[in-house]
Amino acid sequence: MSVINKEYIDLQKEILKKQSLWKKEISQDFHHSELSIKNENMPLIEQLDFKVPIPIYKSWILELMELLSDRQPSLTSEMGQIKELLNDVILEQWVDEVLTFNEYYFTHLVQEWKVSEWIPQFLAEHAIRPYLRQMADVYAEDLTSFKHTGTCPCCGEPVRLARLEGKVGKKVLYCPRCYASWSEKRTKCSHCGVDHDDKMNYLHLENDPTKQLYVCDDCNGYVKVMDEKQVLKIEEPALLDLNTIHLDILAQEKGYGVTIEKDRVN
Ligand SMILES: [Zn+2]
Ligand SMILES: [Zn+2]
Repeated sequence: MSVINKEYIDLQKEILKKQSLWKKEISQDFHHSELSIKNENMPLIEQLDFKVPIPIYKSWILELMELLSDRQPSLTSEMGQIKELLNDVILEQWVDEVLTFNEYYFTHLVQEWKVSEWIPQFLAEHAIRPYLRQMADVYAEDLTSFKHTGTCPCCGEPVRLARLEGKVGKKVLYCPRCYASWSEKRTKCSHCGVDHDDKMNYLHLENDPTKQLYVCDDCNGYVKVMDEKQVLKIEEPALLDLNTIHLDILAQEKGYGVTIEKDRVN
C-alpha cells in the first residue's frame, strides 16, 4: 500500500540510481579524517570540516533539473530560469543551508526568484545526499558509539525508521537520508531515550504483519518499524520511508509526531 503515486515513486527510483552512481564517483576522494574531539551527543556532520566541491555539486543539480524537465515538461521554463540564476556563491550557500535544515532560507529564495516553492530545496537536498551517504559509510565505525537520540547521528535527520533484524529481531535504526544505521534496545524510545516498557506502545496494523509503529507516551514520538523476517525483499531506506508514508499519516492521526531536537539551530 502506498499513498504516493507511481510516477513519483518511479522518479525517486531514478534519482536513487543516480545518487548511487554519484556516490561511487566521489568514493575515491572522500576519506576518513580523525576527529580531534569527538562529541557523541552531536551529529557527526556538525563536527566535520565538510567540503563539497562546487563543480561536482553543480553538475548533479543540472542533471536533476534535466531529469525533472524530462519527466514533467511543464517545469522546463522554470528550470531554465533557475539555471540562469545559479552561480557558485549560491551553490555554496545551498550546501550550507541544506545541511543545517534551513527551510527559511529556501522559502525566502523562492519568493525572490519567483519559482515553485519545492524546487530549489529539492535540488539542493538530493544533490547533497551522495556526500552524506559516503560519509555514513566512511564513518560507520565511529557512528556506533554515538549516544544522542532523536536524530540521525550522522546527518541530523529526525529519526523515523527502523528494522527488526536477524533471529532475535534486533532493532536497527536507518536514516532514509544518509543511510547511516545504528542499533538500539527495543524498549528504548528513539526520540527521548526513555527506556521503560510501560512508556512504549507497539501499534500493530490491520492486514499488515510486517510493520508496526513504536510510539512513546513520554515524548509523543514515533518510529516506523519493519520486521525483516516477514518481508521477502528489503527496500533501501529512502524507498522504504516513501512507501510507508501511510504509517506517518496514521501516527499523526493518532496524535504522535516526530519530535524536533530542542537544540537544533536553524
Ligand atoms: Zn542521516
Ligand atoms: Zn520518547
